[in-house]
Amino acid sequence: MICCRSADRQFLNRQYHMAIDPETARERLAAIKRELETLSALSEEDRAAVALDQQAVGRLSRMDAMQQQAMAQAAERARARDLQRIDAALKRIEDGEYGYCSECGEAIAEKRLAIDPMVSLCIACAGR
Ligand SMILES: [Zn+2]
Repeated sequence: MICCRSADRQFLNRQYHMAIDPETARERLAAIKRELETLSALSEEDRAAVALDQQAVGRLSRMDAMQQQAMAQAAERARARDLQRIDAALKRIEDGEYGYCSECGEAIAEKRLAIDPMVSLCIACAGR
């Protein structure tokens, strides 16, 4: 079991060194960052305090507005977390550590990075 996993890792490492290029990773991360910043700017109004005139709108629509605001604020918090992860990943690229697990130092599988280019842990460490 252990020897098979280590063989898999060596194989993945070889794959990794051929496939991942820091410049491509940097471009992908920058593109995601721009997208998040655009979404954030577009939703600014939705996140603003609900200032509906109680008399002009019914109680239900005010609750709808507050629910929408809460959802917009939650989405913004998720974007802020992703932006932090992007900046951390960009720093790992600068430091030459990108694509390696920050826990065990093994190369992170390319497919895993393709799904989420911000991941900092290999699948084994992430599952712990
Ligand atoms: Zn690991």
